[in-house]
Amino acid sequence: MDEFELIRRYFVRDENAPDVICGIGDDGAVVQTSAATELVIVVDTLIEGVHFPAGTDASDIGYRAVAVNLSDIAAMGARPRWMTLALTIESADAAWMKSFADGLHTAAAEHDVQLVGGDTTRGDRCVVTVQINGEVDTGCAIQRAGASAGDTIFVTGCLGDAAAGLERLSQGHRDDYLAGRFLRPTARVEYGRSLVGTASAAIDLSDGLYADLQKMMTASGVGAEIDLHSLPISKALQAHFDRDEQQRFALSGGDDYELCFTVAHGRLPDARDVRVTAIGTVTDSQRIVCLDRGVVVPFDDSGYRHFQ
Ligand code: ADP
Ligand code: MG
Repeated sequence: MDEFELIRRYFVRDENAPDVICGIGDDGAVVQTSAATELVIVVDTLIEGVHFPAGTDASDIGYRAVAVNLSDIAAMGARPRWMTLALTIESADAAWMKSFADGLHTAAAEHDVQLVGGDTTRGDRCVVTVQINGEVDTGCAIQRAGASAGDTIFVTGCLGDAAAGLERLSQGHRDDYLAGRFLRPTARVEYGRSLVGTASAAIDLSDGLYADLQKMMTASGVGAEIDLHSLPISKALQAHFDRDEQQRFALSGGDDYELCFTVAHGRLPDARDVRVTAIGTVTDSQRIVCLDRGVVVPFDDSGYRHFQ
């Protein structure tokens, strides 16, 4: 049983209360708190040895724990406001704590998020859970369900850098660009908010493009055609890996925390410093098809799973 089956079996309930606008199954939960505003709630856990290698710099752990949550907030088109932190550590080393807190507060300050509570415990390895609450105007949250056949599929940034960076880290390249993309992902918070009213659906890429696009398409009851040649690949990824590896990282590498979204028509919001690339089209086939110059390339990848 993988974690998605566990969630379906033990946590999903048939009906949500009327104040639950979007429950289990999206990047964040959306609940109605007043007539004008909805609260968007996201939570993510990072475990040493699972989500980051033992020995990762404490400031990077702190930064990343906030950034991955900001990314879920971004995928909902919400404005992040408040966060809580549940921290488990083996021992209270002052230098480690200072560095961790620096990274955490740096990521939070970039988007004006305040730490308002949490829990601190001792355990046999480092586990960091951050929960962020954000806000959207009523009815404005962007959900995974909403894509229709004919919509264009876009991604922000470049794909595959973080997974390639993790591999570079394991080879001892701590200071290169790709490793940095893994350690300090850029949450597309402003761009996500600018997609409200334009994007028909959105998800953030934590498990890899193919797996996460599959989730968004399943939630929307549609399929997709992806043009492999259009996938945005950074110069750094091209410099260090061959064409097959670039494609593998771009399609199935996790941890990029870019946004993948669909647009029915109309103009994209001004991106300014964010690269935005059209990578394919939504279809009514219920499957994801990868095309290489019009030829179907067999590919199947369901993304990282914590339980098999
Ligand atoms: P994502 O696809 O953004 O990585 P997850 O895979 O962690 O999200 O979770 C899938 C969905 O299930 C999300 O909507 C998440 O909030 C929900 N979920 C995960 N674990 C639990 C749990 N223990 N109880 C309730 N809901 C959960
Ligand atoms: Mg997500």
